[in-house]
Order: sequence, then structure tokens, then C-alpha cells
Amino acid sequence: MAEHNFDVVILGGGSGGYAAALRSAQLGLSVALIERDKLGGTCLHRGCIPTKALLHSAEVADVAREAASYGVQASLQGIDMPAVNKYRDGIIDRLFKGLTGLVSSKAITLVAGEGKMTGPKSITVNGDVYTGKNLVLATGSFSKTLPGLDIAGRVITSDQALQLDFVPTKAIVLGGGVIGVEFASIWKSFGCDVTIIEGLPNLVPNEDPAVSKALERAYRKRGINFKTGVRFSGVQQSATGVVVTLESGETFDAELLLVAVGRGPNTAGFGYEENGIKMDRGYVLTNERLETSIPGVYAAGDIVPGLQLAHRGFQQGIFIAEELAGLKPVAIDELGIPKVTYCEPEIASVGLSEPKAAEKYGAENISVYEYNLGGNGKSQILGTAGFIKLIRKNNGPVIGIHMIGSRVGEQVGEAQLIVNWEAFPEEVASLVHAHPTQNEALGEAHLALAGKPLHAHA
Ligand SMILES: Cc1cc2nc3c(=O)[nH]c(=O)nc-3n(C[C@H](O)[C@H](O)[C@H](O)COP(=O)(O)OP(=O)(O)OC[C@H]3O[C@@H](n4cnc5c(N)ncnc54)[C@H](O)[C@@H]3O)c2cc1C
Repeated sequence: MAEHNFDVVILGGGSGGYAAALRSAQLGLSVALIERDKLGGTCLHRGCIPTKALLHSAEVADVAREAASYGVQASLQGIDMPAVNKYRDGIIDRLFKGLTGLVSSKAITLVAGEGKMTGPKSITVNGDVYTGKNLVLATGSFSKTLPGLDIAGRVITSDQALQLDFVPTKAIVLGGGVIGVEFASIWKSFGCDVTIIEGLPNLVPNEDPAVSKALERAYRKRGINFKTGVRFSGVQQSATGVVVTLESGETFDAELLLVAVGRGPNTAGFGYEENGIKMDRGYVLTNERLETSIPGVYAAGDIVPGLQLAHRGFQQGIFIAEELAGLKPVAIDELGIPKVTYCEPEIASVGLSEPKAAEKYGAENISVYEYNLGGNGKSQILGTAGFIKLIRKNNGPVIGIHMIGSRVGEQVGEAQLIVNWEAFPEEVASLVHAHPTQNEALGEAHLALAGKPLHAHA
């Protein structure tokens, strides 16, 4: 048994862990980064990157299918799933090589193996003890399922869905949140008959209600079936398919059932609780400095309650490194974190939804404006429908931006600056937005909210 000492020992090499490692090394701290699988974690290998590559192939399929409406003679002959997967894996391989190279170019000791907390400042890997002046826990998350719903055979999660080398002819997606609607979008574009089953009254229930309704309209138009406000009861598998039963007794048959009911913290069996870390239902509790109940032990990413997003993990990792280096970084404002759902049409948002804003400030103290993409030249060129919805505090800053429409995810950068810098609509209205871009729609929405609409009615 060997003992190794570092300034920082990081458990988990995903978005949160590797960001903490890179920034710590940059700041001159000695770092051990422990990873049991592959650097890059869920985001690079089983999450953001592979799903967004599939969504891009899906967009290409839609463009080919609709080519005639743009005067282009082309037709969609089919989806070659092994070739789609090869394209996707090529991207992952390149990014993985880049990340591995980046980590090895810094003073970071990469330790391969599963680590377990064996003391308040120690992690043991394959019998060796890595002790840090500080620890960072960043062990990520896993696909959850429902009690009694086993993941096996034709009942799969996003992990197995990404391994499929064929397009299912018919699929049921259990869960209408981000991962569920993204897979439904991909499969529909690839020619699959999809039905989403969601227990809450709307798809993407964490978004502003206007966005949920718009997505439902768009999905109806695309022929993506969904049942909301219904409760799943059980599933039966046979050699050829699955039959899903709802509590109402209604049944649905398909080739596959994708279970997309959220992700749980990956913390069991790693010695956290045993070493005195305060937890809640498997999540690691931290203060706003991301420090756990043990001084000097920090946590980042999906194991910390809040939005489970890669860019939140990156930012938390950077924050912790800067905190350890004594830079006293500004605490992360969770409400200012941008969210994008990459289905077709895309959804992007930052800040408060209308109901949350009304709850916080009173409905009479906020103003809302919805700019329809029908008035935006670039959106018309792309053939997309949707809107940009703004919420401001009366005589105050913009506190929420909610967008739906093809490619609106690319607009979230400006949207998050507006909300996080607490800009007033009048200030944004004076900025020039390039024509013809979809970004212009953000400018137009602020012009309208500032009381001087150009290509919109007041
Ligand atoms: C299908 C899907 C699509 C997604 N799409 C997006 C998206 O578009 N945008 C977005 O922002 N987010 C997306 N996410 C979420 C994003 O992937 C996660 O928020 C992010 O990966 C969390 O980072 P993390 O560092 O907390 O954990 P992870 O990335 O899960 O990394 C944790 C790492 O720790 C390692 N590990 C765990 N336990 C141990 C141990 N005991 N010892 C050693 N190593 C260990 C794991 O092997 C893993 O590499 C998606 C997720 C999924 C599943």
C-alpha cells in the first residue's frame, strides 16, 4: 500500500472533475484525478456529445426529406445507423484524444481505477491511498428507473439507446423531460413511430408553460405522439416487442421502451456518508461555496442538488479550484444557468419562468412580451416557427428569457448575458443585432418590451 499526497484529490473525471483538475493545475496546485472509466464522463461518452451528434444526423434527414420545399431535388433513401454511429464516435474519439492530451500536458496525476473515500481527506484506489489537503467529489449520475421496472432486453435507458445499430420501427419513451423529448425527436426524424408517456400535465415540465405548449403543438405537427398526465403501470416484454400498460388500463405496443425518468446521484458505496458527509437522498449537500459538511471536502456536478447539466459541472469545477487557490470567486447563481433542449424545435431558456416570476414578485409587478418568429426573416428562411418570450420586472431588468424554434439554442449566449447582467430591455434595445439572423429576434423582442417595436405589433 503506497501513500500519495496532493493539494487536491479529485474523484471522478467527468465535466465537474476534469474542470476542477485543469483549473487547479493552472493555478499551481498539485492534483490527482481519479477515474474508473474514461476521462470526459457522461457528457462526452454517453450524454451531451453523442446525443447532439445524433440530433445533427436527424436534422440532415429532415432537410433531405423536405428538400423539395426549398427547390432542391433530393430524397431521403434511409438511415444507415452504423454509419451514423461511426460519425458520432469519430467526434467522441477526437474530443477524447484532445481532452486526454490536455490533462496529460498539465501537472495532473491521472489515476485509473475506482476510488472510495477511506478518511476525511483520503481516497483509496486499488489499495493505494491518495490524500489531499482538499478533496473534490464529482462522481456524476446514472439513469434512474421506476420501482419494479427493470432495465433489460427491450427496456432500455439512454445508455443502451446510444448503442443501437438500428432504428426502431416503433418506440415508447417513458418521460417527457429533456432526454425523453430529445430521443423522441431523433427517432421520429429517423422514421420511427414514437409515443411519449409523461406523468405530469405537459412535456418539458421544467420550462415556461408557453414553451411546453408550443413544443406539444410542434410535436403534434411532426407526428410525434404523446400522452401527458398519465401514470405508467407496467411493461411486458416478448421476443418481438413490449406492451406498456398505464394505470388507466390503456396499452401501447412497440419494439422498445426507453426509460427517461431522470438521473440519480452516483454516490452509493463510495464511503461518503460513512466518513461524515451530509447527504440527502443520495445527493451530496454543499453550501454555496460548494463545500460539504466536512471542511476541505468539496463536490461538483450531478451529485450536487440542482440542474444536472455539463456546463454547470464545468463552472463548479472551476469555482472550486479558484476557491482552493484563494481567489475568492463569486458564488454561482443557479438561476442564471442557461438551459437548452436540443430537440426539433429547440428550446432555450435562462432565468425565471412566468409563473415563478409572478410568484416571486407578484403578477402585477412583471411584464411579459412574446415575439413571434413569424416576424423574423432568418427563421422564415429556415422554415421554423416559435417565439422568444421575455419577462421583466416593471421598470427593472429582464429576469427570464424563454425561446423555442429551430436553432434557438445558439441564442442562449446573449440571453444569459442579459439576465445575468440584469440588463433593462431599454439597454438591450439600443444594441444593434445583425440582419438577417435569428439573433435579431432577441433584439426585436427587447425593442417591443421597451415600447418601440419595429417588426412586431406592440
Ligand atoms: C443522454 C444525455 C444527454 C445529455 N445532454 C446534455 C446536454 O446536451 N447538455 C448538458 O449540459 N448536459 C447534458 N447531459 C448531462 C451531463 O452529461 C451531465 O450533467 C454531466 O456529465 C455531469 O458531469 P459530472 O462531472 O457531474 O458527472 P459525469 O460526467 O457522470 O462524470 C463522473 C465521472 O466519475 C467517474 N466515477 C464515478 N464514480 C467513480 C469512482 N468511485 N471512482 C472513480 N471514478 C468514478 C465516472 O466514470 C465518470 O467518468 C446529458 C446527459 C445524458 C445522460
